[in-house]
Amino acid sequence: MEEYKQIAELLFPKTLDVEKIKQSYPKRKLLDGSQVTRYAPSPTGMMHIGNFFQAFISYNIAKNTNGVFYVRFEDTDSKREIKEAKEVIYQILKEFGIWPDEYQSLEGQDFGKYGPYIQSQRVEIYKAFAKKLVAEGKAFPCFCKKTEGKEDVEKLRETKFEQDDEKEYDPCRNLSYEEVKKHLDNGDSFAIRLKTKNDGSQRVKFYDLIKGELEAKANSKDFILLKSDGVPPYAFAHAIDDTLMGTTIVVRGEEYISSTPMHIELFQALGFEPICYCHNPLIWKIDENGNKRKISKRKDLEADMRFYLQYGYPKESILEYLLNLINSGFEIWRKENPDTHWSEYKFGIKDITTVAPVFDIIKLNDIAKNIISKINGEKLYEDWLQWAKVYDKELAEILETGKEKFVKLCKMERDESPKPRKDIYNLSMMKDYFGYAFAKPNNFEVEDEKLFKDFIKAYEKNFVMPNSNQEWFDKTKEIAGTNGFALDNKDFKLNPQNYKGNIAKACELVRIALTGQKSGPSLYYIIDALGEEETRARLKFIAES
Ligand code: GLU
Repeated sequence: MEEYKQIAELLFPKTLDVEKIKQSYPKRKLLDGSQVTRYAPSPTGMMHIGNFFQAFISYNIAKNTNGVFYVRFEDTDSKREIKEAKEVIYQILKEFGIWPDEYQSLEGQDFGKYGPYIQSQRVEIYKAFAKKLVAEGKAFPCFCKKTEGKEDVEKLRETKFEQDDEKEYDPCRNLSYEEVKKHLDNGDSFAIRLKTKNDGSQRVKFYDLIKGELEAKANSKDFILLKSDGVPPYAFAHAIDDTLMGTTIVVRGEEYISSTPMHIELFQALGFEPICYCHNPLIWKIDENGNKRKISKRKDLEADMRFYLQYGYPKESILEYLLNLINSGFEIWRKENPDTHWSEYKFGIKDITTVAPVFDIIKLNDIAKNIISKINGEKLYEDWLQWAKVYDKELAEILETGKEKFVKLCKMERDESPKPRKDIYNLSMMKDYFGYAFAKPNNFEVEDEKLFKDFIKAYEKNFVMPNSNQEWFDKTKEIAGTNGFALDNKDFKLNPQNYKGNIAKACELVRIALTGQKSGPSLYYIIDALGEEETRARLKFIAES
């Protein structure tokens, strides 16, 4: 035992005091049942929808129990770190309103008493705990070259040590003080490994809050706690951080289930209370070939949370869709409470789905359509403009100059309508949707060109700017009637040969002339939005072509 202590001193002559560290992280004062959860991203690129899903679950568990939700950046893998990744993560959390109670700002200021909320600033803490484990004989220095690149260690094992399938003991696990000293005098770098207590014959049981009791082979690897640069991989850092920072439930992806036995041994070695794990299912999708696969950041645009911002999806549509994936009960609740904010929907861990949810953009679009249909015209215009200011500056200018027209278009069959149209699911599609408002159409698909031209000519001649839908329809009927269209549908059905078409056909021709489209919202609103001058110009364009 004394020798372990000496080795520890040799390796880490100056470290923080573990007891003092523990004192600086007092037990959190929580209400009964309140949970402390966290989102612990490795800032290495875009924010994957699966990570957001996890953050969203963590956020809800904390909020639904009056607990605390914090963000901790796991940036110890500095080779992979992308600076902007942190910015993106915070941007997404902010825009979606999943803001943490405790975190470190981009400028490096900690908000909360359990920081630093970023692992690269916690290295001295990890070192102190590593030293403690070495001093207790529960960990040891490993001098094998490139210990973080496994290959060399594997080779060493093969040549120097007897093969043993069950154990994965490291060649350096029993070095004496003298041997360690020799290495250090030599200037050899070292990693710190756990000296596992197991030999491969043990099993371990653990409880997952979603999946229930699980059992697996206990860890029997001398896995790395500190790499040769003094920085810990995930397992060690997470055990120390979640304990000190007072996490009560670790919500993480189910890809971590297989390494949970390692984490359990680590918590025991460190003398920590076991922590509650909640492994959330990953999100899947059915690809173009009908195969089910994990939603992938390389293949799927919708895997990147920025996609939803770039396309201008209403934020709540994503949150509500994810609530649907978390728990199918949300859909029923939504039907019963159509106007209640999603955050009123309370769910507990036991409600989280155990089956892998499958992402379906059509379902998401339906939710988004529904949400957009409830936004009033003025607000929709404002949302569109704000979105365009970020993602399409040219469009933003047009929207600002043509405000009156665009507000009218946004209001169409929306504000006063008992049954608003449900065909817009994101802001990026509105430019095409209202394409006719940006430029006069130049592609007119009609069966009979001559009929089209003749009628529009007559229509243009007799056109009077309407003041109401009724006025517009009466006038259109009048012009259609005097130009050979049937006003009575029954008669038209009996004697179609007597007419050029029915009134619906006449309206369709006017619509094509003004918008280039065969269907859409009531023409009166479109004419009102375009204004008299532009309406006449469009009719003339056909009449005189
Ligand atoms: N940094 C880990 C990851 O991004 C966190 C896992 C966890 O939540 O514990 O996968």
